[in-house]
Amino acid sequence: MTMISCPACSHQVSDQATSCPNCGHPLVPAATTNVATYSNTSGTNTSVPAIVSLVFGLLSWCILPFIGAIVAVIAGHIARSEIRSAPAGTIDGDGMAIAGLILGWAHLVVVLLGLLFIFAVLGGFAAMSH
Ligand SMILES: [Zn+2]
Repeated sequence: MTMISCPACSHQVSDQATSCPNCGHPLVPAATTNVATYSNTSGTNTSVPAIVSLVFGLLSWCILPFIGAIVAVIAGHIARSEIRSAPAGTIDGDGMAIAGLILGWAHLVVVLLGLLFIFAVLGGFAAMSH
């Protein structure tokens, strides 16, 4: 237990006291102040592009093929650079950004391989018809 001086009368008061016993000035206990400060500074914001990346990464596999994957990859890169450039721990969502990037890139690879396969098959038919 430490003693602090009352802001109103400079009387030495316990930091656990809720009001100054000398003048009655209300004091906020140190513990409460610390908790309030802690929750304010540690209140991380989740990166919006990271959420966009994850959502479009998922959408690319069901209702938004290709376009969803492009959006997921772009948003994922924006999110990761945003998270890196911000002070450590102030922006959350790196995991979501990575998930969005993986989903997006994986989809693009699948689409690319699918196109290559289609072109190879078409090319094969074209070669046979000549
Ligand atoms: Zn006082």
